Amino acid sequence: MPNMVINGKSVASLSGQTLGVIAPASGEVFTTIPRGSSDDVDIAVKAARAALSADWGRLTATERGRLLTKLSNKILDCAEELAELEAKDTGKAITTARNDIQVLARYFEFYAGGADKLHGETIPFLNDYAVQVIREPLGVTAHILPWNYPAQTFGRSVSAALAMGNAAVVKPAEDACLSIIRVAELALEVGFPPGALNVVTGLGEEVGASLASHADINFISFTGSGEVGALIQAAAAKNAVKCVLELGGKSAHIVFNDANFKHAAKLIVKGIIANTGQTCTAGSRVLIQKDVFEEFLTILAQEFTQTKAGTPEMDLSCGPVVNKAQFDRVNHYVNLGKQEGLRVIAEGSIDANVPKEGFFVCPILFASDTHDSQLLQDEIFGPVLVAVPFDTEDDAIALANATKYGLMGAVWTENGGRQTRVAKGMQAGQVYINGFGAGGGVELPFGGMKRSGHGREKGFVALEEMSTTKTIIQYHGKYDN
Ligand code: NAD
Repeated sequence: MPNMVINGKSVASLSGQTLGVIAPASGEVFTTIPRGSSDDVDIAVKAARAALSADWGRLTATERGRLLTKLSNKILDCAEELAELEAKDTGKAITTARNDIQVLARYFEFYAGGADKLHGETIPFLNDYAVQVIREPLGVTAHILPWNYPAQTFGRSVSAALAMGNAAVVKPAEDACLSIIRVAELALEVGFPPGALNVVTGLGEEVGASLASHADINFISFTGSGEVGALIQAAAAKNAVKCVLELGGKSAHIVFNDANFKHAAKLIVKGIIANTGQTCTAGSRVLIQKDVFEEFLTILAQEFTQTKAGTPEMDLSCGPVVNKAQFDRVNHYVNLGKQEGLRVIAEGSIDANVPKEGFFVCPILFASDTHDSQLLQDEIFGPVLVAVPFDTEDDAIALANATKYGLMGAVWTENGGRQTRVAKGMQAGQVYINGFGAGGGVELPFGGMKRSGHGREKGFVALEEMSTTKTIIQYHGKYDN
């Protein structure tokens, strides 16, 4: 049975309580995880604090980097085991899970290299003064994670935090945390000192809330919904703790009449179907220039009808959604779209042999004449794509920006000037030109604008986010007396 990892040990919750873990593909409870409480959180935070002044805190930056490298290699050694866990826990297709584990390993590899490369600076100041600005860890960092990409979101925030010498307390999502527990065990195997990396499992309103409001943490990295993100920011504010919020999205593709339609259609469909649409960056709106609206829609529909949902082992375009609540949510929006009178342009399919109790939804492509539908505003988090026509470049940018979110976007055109103008005009943390969602993007700064959150993870900038500066001002002149 999977346990929590606290202070270098694999432990049950103090209360002994557990939570069942459901396989989304079959609806069956297949294992349990500890149901932690504020007491478990407190022990984990104390262990992390102690680690900062013990073996972990005494490592040089280079030594920390080497440990991260070891963990990256260990993850690769255990990649198949981790991918199978991730697939069973989340329902995602095994190929998607395998890719997620490669990206997880890449995060540790990337930040291993960064551990000793974020240097301080010296600043010219008054005569007889020397000023050095040094980098220090923030201290105890809290990481509250979602269920859609457990391994990837763990990798991106925790590896950067550890690289900078912080000690981490991780609260994975109750729906999917098995790969994270396993990686924390692997970290101990490769020599991470006790307390450097702790994982406390349990419910959001119990473990998550007590971690976010704990008086002895120094930073929160939160990835999840806007509703919970607001609670996290309020909790962080109470203790004057810095937080990074990686929240939801309603990303738009803008397809101009000169785009390469086949190439665009392929990647747009992949971008909404991958992980069964449960991706914060999913391009869930496709804005198409009016004069080619029907033509492009036909090509998009051809791609869309080929999509198929199946179990992780069937390894099809997508899997089930993660739980019953998500299943009901996606179906609610599909029904709403039909009630609102949106045109159903194409549907994928569900493999006939999937278990009846699994949370499978059918991928669907709608078209709308206007941008008014609720389906164009809300993050559905399922394989639901809505197409809308636009007239001019300015209209397209205005429509793309007409949601509360600002996470990602894409522009599809062969016109070079337009590519850059539109990319600059879109309110989003990342904008692709003639591509989408390539390769995990470990090296590339990532994060939201507007209600998609604030702060940046991924790329070198995460090392700055997860550390702080200290300015040391030294008088080196002669004393007057
Ligand atoms: P969620 O907000 O429901 O849960 C996220 C985490 O917060 C979980 O670990 C949960 O247990 C915890 N939590 C819940 N209530 C809490 C509380 N009161 N206090 C503290 N913690 C609490 O989100 P989710 O359903 O797991 O994930 C889906 C959402 O995550 C979507 O909106 C998606 O867009 C977003 N997401 C964003 C990114 C990104 O990088 N921007 C990446 C992945 C997912």
